[in-house]
Amino acid sequence: MAKLILIVVLALVVVWWLRGLRRPSPPASSKRSAGPSRAQAMVPCAHCGVHLPRIEAVAGADAGRFYCTEAHRLAAEER
Ligand SMILES: [Zn+2]
Repeated sequence: MAKLILIVVLALVVVWWLRGLRRPSPPASSKRSAGPSRAQAMVPCAHCGVHLPRIEAVAGADAGRFYCTEAHRLAAEER
């Protein structure tokens, strides 16, 4: 009987310890909600006007112009 109690106590300690290891994630989520700095800047495609995250956009030859695809960059710059 004492062995059973010991096993149960050890299992509870292991579960408690594993939850403690996962605890560092909530500060990360609160950091995520803290900032508009984490929000991605959206830019419109200069050819078709669709909005997309700036990091996914194709930069045009003109500064400040972005395109959704390489094809739209070529189509806009041929004009
Ligand atoms: Zn486009």
